Order: sequence, then structure tokens, then C-alpha cells
Amino acid sequence: MTPAEGQEHATFILRVAVPVPLRDVFDYLPPQGVSADALLPGMRLRVPFGRRKLTGILVDTRAESEQPLEKLKHALAVLDESPLIPAPLRDLCQWSADYYQHAIGEVFAAALTPTLREGREVPKSSWRLTSRGLGLGPASLKRAKSQADAVARLQNGPVSHESLRADGVSSATLRELRKKDLMEACLPASNWPAEVTRESGPTLSAEQGLCIDAVKASADTFAVHLLEGVTGSGKTEVYLRCIEDCLRRGKQALVLIPEIGLTPQTVARFESRFSAPVALLHSGLADGRRLDHWVSGSTGAAGVVIGTRSASFTPIANLGLIVVDEEHDGSYKQQDGFRYSARDVSVKRAQLEACPVLLGSATPSLESLQNAKRGRYQHHRLRERQAGGSLPAMRIIDLRGLALRAGISDELLAEVRSTVELGGRQALLFLNRRGFAPTLQCHDCGWIADCDHCDARLTLHLRNRLLRCHHCGYQRPLDPGCPQCGSKSLLTHGLGTEQAESFLKAELSCPVYRIDSDAMRGVDAMETLLDIAHSGEPCVILGTQMLTKGHHFPAVQLVGVIDADALTYSADFRGEERMAQLLVQVSGRAGREAAGGSVVVQTHYPENPLLQTITAQNYDQIADTILEQRASSHLPPFGHLCMLRADAANESEGEEFLKAARDRSQRLLPRDTTLIGPLPAAMSRRAGRFRWQLWCLSQKRSSGLVAARRLVAAAADLKQSRDLSWFIDIDPSDVV
Ligand code: ADP
Ligand code: ZN
Ligand code: ZN
Repeated sequence: MTPAEGQEHATFILRVAVPVPLRDVFDYLPPQGVSADALLPGMRLRVPFGRRKLTGILVDTRAESEQPLEKLKHALAVLDESPLIPAPLRDLCQWSADYYQHAIGEVFAAALTPTLREGREVPKSSWRLTSRGLGLGPASLKRAKSQADAVARLQNGPVSHESLRADGVSSATLRELRKKDLMEACLPASNWPAEVTRESGPTLSAEQGLCIDAVKASADTFAVHLLEGVTGSGKTEVYLRCIEDCLRRGKQALVLIPEIGLTPQTVARFESRFSAPVALLHSGLADGRRLDHWVSGSTGAAGVVIGTRSASFTPIANLGLIVVDEEHDGSYKQQDGFRYSARDVSVKRAQLEACPVLLGSATPSLESLQNAKRGRYQHHRLRERQAGGSLPAMRIIDLRGLALRAGISDELLAEVRSTVELGGRQALLFLNRRGFAPTLQCHDCGWIADCDHCDARLTLHLRNRLLRCHHCGYQRPLDPGCPQCGSKSLLTHGLGTEQAESFLKAELSCPVYRIDSDAMRGVDAMETLLDIAHSGEPCVILGTQMLTKGHHFPAVQLVGVIDADALTYSADFRGEERMAQLLVQVSGRAGREAAGGSVVVQTHYPENPLLQTITAQNYDQIADTILEQRASSHLPPFGHLCMLRADAANESEGEEFLKAARDRSQRLLPRDTTLIGPLPAAMSRRAGRFRWQLWCLSQKRSSGLVAARRLVAAAADLKQSRDLSWFIDIDPSDVV
């Protein structure tokens, strides 16, 4: 054996996923002085990358590299004592990088919290109050505010050292508390109480029982359960029972919730049911807490991990069940960077972890319904509402020829009046457009307020005297007159929530609350809404999409859809599916407890068949109709769709680029694959960039994957101008 061969044999190559937008893993040599057996896949490594030092994840090790050995650099340090990402989750990351054609380092990074991505340590020890600390009277630390704050923070159980420090507790404070024997170190809790629940739920209905039995029967194996049930039919109760069973078997459950649904009320419902710890993961958490919750999921300390989209990649020591609530919700698809669907990833994860996954919705996606029809998913239904409420009656108001004020007919106004002012109940009015009016026009010269950066009009926000673009965020103050001719005679067209709000306030003696992202932001808005809803005070709640998510509005008796027509215009082939989901969801808010809730839909097209079926309360029938159309046009879920998208400041660059990618890849594509385009996006200019798309439609999923890979390879090979940016979007949720 020559010395060179001997050396090669002893070499140990680390394949590292580095968080950079490149599709490959990178080869490194082990850090100087670190032996091979200290290195396990799933650990973090500090590595040199160009001039930077980055935190990567060890994917696996090899005896050989395709690179010449002398070119390889040593990793700088091993950051963990044991792997942070367990094997099934590593497989999930690999699968996702391949399926979504995304940079593997960025996919692996999705499994870590921001602090861990920066290379910070995983908390090893936590602090908890001693019995003395727990027994402390409220006045005893009056003179030491920082100590009192720290004690308050520990009141609900152990908190990691890192998290306390991140919350501003100084090491001097910690020292003092230890000296006074008020606090002691402990390991993160990992034993759940023997009884995993605190309270038992209601007696189950027969339909609930069927679904729960089926999920239980599939424990420890991969199975997908689709639970379809109107709002208020007891889906959450089904989740809780399935989780309970999972906890009893000593396994953890992961629960995904749409962004807007993750409110303290939701979390409280889980916390009050289970005595096993509940961890919470979403981007709004402070870094320290997020890390603690991440740790309790990954060590097995938490029984239940609840989170939004990004939690689908969080490590869980011993996963026994995944629940995806409101599985049709758009927020499960990430729309930038790593464009994945958390629902689809969860189904794959369940397969890799060999556990059941439960997808729940009142309006399942057509993808899931079709999978159920093909027998891939078990389909369970809850047809009746719990808590006595019956389904509301639905009625259409034909707007043709009617007088409208702020878009509201006298008939609808009268209904609102009798519900709120006479009946003392709540009315919920849905209008999916913010601002005062979507168009501002000069009556004398015809000028229209357009966005300078998009093919879109500026929306008038009268309250703040602003013109704002809802597509790129551009805004400017409202001029006193027409910028073109100076005329003071400006007209508004169309209707937004601001306008409806001022009209209703002037007409009604009860409070009118506006709930949209202008009035309130994110979680706050939801909180306010829920407080109002639960207070039961007679009022009108007026708002956008935010109203449609699966919450409990016990006192709402009337739901009004002010402008159903605005929902019917959509260039997206999913437009009808979305409209049906939205209308069914919004009408699900009415009469959840009170008998005789009603839903009123205003439209100029009362004969629209889609509206007709929706008012007949038959989501399955609508879904079947839309599925037939999709089947005949080979669109998802019957075909596999991906899109290559490009945008540039120059009008034609994106088009040229996509044409070149098309010409290069066309011959190499599977037979059942068709390329369509390049086509301009429906809004062809947005935020100053011209956007183009190339559709790639395959009949078989396997061909779709091959085609996506070929397209990406062809695009990556092209010389492009510096300004152009492009990406592939697999299973796009939004094709306009
Ligand atoms: P969903 O998640 O489908 O909207 P929930 O699980 O929140 O429905 O149930 C709606 C309401 O009915 C809740 O107040 C819940 O406690 C109650 N509920 C659920 N299942 C039952 C049951 N089997 N018996 C009585 N009440 C129930
Ligand atoms: Zn003018
Ligand atoms: Zn704009």
C-alpha cells in the first residue's frame, strides 16, 4: 500500500448542509484533533465558507470525496455533543430538498431555531424554584425587583438558563437567588405525570367515536385520516382524544395550526386538557422561549408541540401523531425562499416516522378529497354540530337594481338591525377588501390613482388620508386635488371595509368593530375579535378573511357577505375552490350555539351555480363539480404542476430567460409532461419587477419530479443577467 492510499483510507469526509442558496452538500475534513467517533449525523458544525464562518449540519460521512483531498478544508468545530436532528427528520429534510428542489442547507436550517442557526448552545440546564421560592409571599422581594421578576418568570415551572438570560435576568440576580435558596438547577423536565389528562371531555358522538377508533387503530403505523366536519362539529375534541391516546402510549403529538388560528385560547384548550407539558412554536415568540420549547419537543419533555407552518420541521424525540388543523388553509404554503407545503411535508413526515396523521377541515382541499376518493386517505365525517346549534339557513339577496349604500342593501341593513338592535345578538359582516375604496378617479380628466410600481390601482385609505398599494406596500399622502388637472372633483369606485364601517356607524346605535390588518395586526386582532365575540355584547363585527377561521363565535346570529361577486373574479384556477371554502367557512360562524342563525349573501349573479350549491350547504357537491373540471383539464390534483418563475426590472428579460430554459429542457422531459408559456403573471408588474412564468404540467407525479429537476438544471445552466431572479415553485398554491 502506498502512503497516499493509506492516507486516503484513513480519511473521513464530512458531508455538511451549509445554509447557503446552493443545492449541494459540501465536503469537509473533520476539525483538527476531533476523532471520527465524536461525529454523528445531525450535529452542528462550524465551517469556513468562502470568507465567512457558517453553522452547518452534518448530513453523513464518507470515506471518499469527489473533490481532490488537498482542496478540502477542515471544519472548525463540532457544536453539539449529540445529534440535534434525529434520523427520520434528516430523511424528511433530504426528501424536501429533493422534492421542492431547494437548497439543502436552507431546508435543514428550518429544523432549528434562529439562535441555534447562529451556532448558540443548546440549553443543558434549567432553573426552578425551591419549595422556599415557591412559598414566597408577594411582598418578600419588594426591595429586589430584578429578583422578584425572575421568580415570577419561574412560577410556571423550570426555565432554561439561556432563556432566563435572554429575558434579561443577570447572572448576579441568579447568584443571589441561589444564595437565598429560592432557586435550584434541574434538568429539563422529561417525565410526564402518570395521568396525562387533567379533565375528561364530553361524551363522544358516534361519528367522533368512529374517527377516534380508526386513528387509534393505526397507532405506530403510517396512515392518513381526513376528518371533514363543519365548524362546531367537534373536530378539536377528536384531536384531543387522539392526542390523549398517543400520550398514554408514551409518545408525543405534533399539532399544526394556521397562522391566524394560533391564539392563546387555542393553546389554553390544549393546556387545560393535558397535564403533560405543551410546547408552543411560532415566529412571534421571543428567542429564549422559542428555544426552550424547541428543546422540550426535541428531548421528549413536551407531550404536545403546537405550532404554525415552521413547526412541521421541528425535532420531536418520539413522535406518535401529527394533527393538521384547517388543512386547506393557505398559510401552510410558504410563499418565499423554501416554498414548501407544511401539510404535504407532514404527511411525508408521518410516513417516515411511521405514525398516523390527522388532517381536519370543514372544507378540505381538493387534493385531500381526491386522495380520500382514491382510498389513500381514510375519510371520516362529522355531519352534525355539537352544542346544539343547527346549521344556519342561507339566503341570497339579488342586488340587481337595488339601491345600495356603502355596498349594503336596505334588506341586509334591516336584518342587521333586527339581529342586533332588536334581538340583542351579534352580526358578522364579511368584506374582503381593506381601505375606503379600491379606486380613486378624477371626474374632470379621468386620471386614476395607479401604483407606480405595479399593474395595480392604489386603494384610498381615508382615515389616514393615504393612497396605498396592497401589492407592494407603496403609499403616499392623498393630494388635495387631481395631480393631472388640479380638479377638486375626485370620485371613488368600489368598496372597502373603512367605508362600510363609517356607513354602519352612522346608521346603527350599537358598536361596530372593524377587524382587518389595517385596524389591528396579527395575533392582536384575533385577540380583540375573540374578546368581543365572547363578551356577547350586541354589536356588528365587520372584517376581512380574518373572520373566516375556525373560531367559536357563540353570540353571532347573522352572517352577511357584503360582496360575493368580488370573490368570483379570479385568474387562478383555484379561485372557485377558494371561494367555496371561504363562503362555507364564513357562514360557519353563524348560530354556533343559538338556534336559527342565518347567512345572507349579496350578489349580482344569483344564478351562479357555485353560489347555488354553497347556499345549499353542500361543500362535497361543490368539491365534486370542481374536481370534474380539474380532471378534464388535467390540473391538480389530477396532474402535477410546477412553475418556473422569473422576474426582472426589464420588461423582457424574464421572458427571454424562461424561453431559453424551455428550449433547453423540452427534449429531455418525460412524455406526459407539457410546458406552457412563458406567460406574463396575471399582475405582470409588481413592486417594479416584470414577472413571467413557465408552467410545467405532468400527468404523473413521478414525471413531475423528473421534469422539475430538468427545468431547474436547464435554468441553472443559463447565463443570466445580474438583475434577474428565478425560482421553481412545486405544487404552487397561487398561480397568478
Ligand atoms: P370544531 O373543532 O369542529 O369547530 P369543537 O371540537 O371546537 O369543534 O367543538 C365545538 C363545541 O362543541 C366545543 O364547545 C366542544 O367542547 C363541544 N363538543 C365537542 N364534542 C362534543 C360532544 N361529543 N358532546 C358535547 N359537546 C361537544
Ligand atoms: Zn384630473
Ligand atoms: Zn404597488
